[in-house]
Amino acid sequence: MSEPIYAGVELGGTKCVAILTRGPDQIVERQIIATTSPEETLGAIERQLLEWHAEHGFASLGIASFGPVELDQSSPSYGQIVRTSKAGWSDTDVARRLERATGMPTAFDTDVNGAALAEMRWGVGQGFDDFAYITVGTGVGVGLIVNGQPTRGFAHSELGHIRPARLVGDDFAGCCPYHGDCVEGLASGPAIQARLGGRAIESISNDDPLWDAVAWTLAQLCHAIVCAAAPRAIAIGGGVMTGQPHLLERIEHMLVDSLAGYMPLPPGRYVQPPGLGAEAGPLGAIALAMTARR
Ligand code: ADP
Ligand code: ZN
Repeated sequence: MSEPIYAGVELGGTKCVAILTRGPDQIVERQIIATTSPEETLGAIERQLLEWHAEHGFASLGIASFGPVELDQSSPSYGQIVRTSKAGWSDTDVARRLERATGMPTAFDTDVNGAALAEMRWGVGQGFDDFAYITVGTGVGVGLIVNGQPTRGFAHSELGHIRPARLVGDDFAGCCPYHGDCVEGLASGPAIQARLGGRAIESISNDDPLWDAVAWTLAQLCHAIVCAAAPRAIAIGGGVMTGQPHLLERIEHMLVDSLAGYMPLPPGRYVQPPGLGAEAGPLGAIALAMTARR
């Protein structure tokens, strides 16, 4: 018997990726849709899903979204993007709308929780119940899976906004509009741009002090994650990590130094690139679809 087909939508700040697949290596259809206004973007996604449903059918739908999102199923605003800085998208219903349109069981979560679940199913988190996926891009986001489940509370966790211990000598003020020098304010793509002060990124060598501050900040984030949930491994992806692969090893060394022997890490590489590469995002939506219930 062949695997069932699942539909997934990764909703990003600049583009959305819709895929139809039987698993990581059996993608049947794929469509990129620009993120413009909610009506234009969600309308296009809805039409695409209906077309695929008529042509191939699918068992369920997973939606992995930029946030913040409402994940409390008892809330009237469940399935919405809430309070976002992205113009026009605050309080936009996504999950209930697409579930209604397709009539199929739908699961909804953050993009990073989806990516973490995909890495646990097919990537570097296989065999683990406790795992973290960090993205370092326009923002810093963390999908933290504890005992097989993404964390839940009055909101999803936002570990990218913790306040790290500062690297001695790093006096960059940080660029988070809420916190200034939180992890996102110190180490996201826009923070790096601000630290460059007009220098071209291509002209910066790997041993520039800028990278010490960025790696240190991300190591502090990993320190907090290790102390909070002791995941078996941490994957770090996103545009900054893809562009600066030298950061990974430094983050791991700085993490070990920072933990100072208090929590010895499991043997082998602990901080890893995503096994699914850039596909961790779209396949995250598929991993979510596989959890959808009627
Ligand atoms: P998003 O977070 O919007 O999904 P990405 O994960 O692709 O997007 O990350 C985009 C960010 O990555 C931008 O802020 C960009 O400045 C940064 N970036 C892209 N290439 C590099 C690079 N070579 N070095 C450092 N940062 C980079
Ligand atoms: Zn912040």
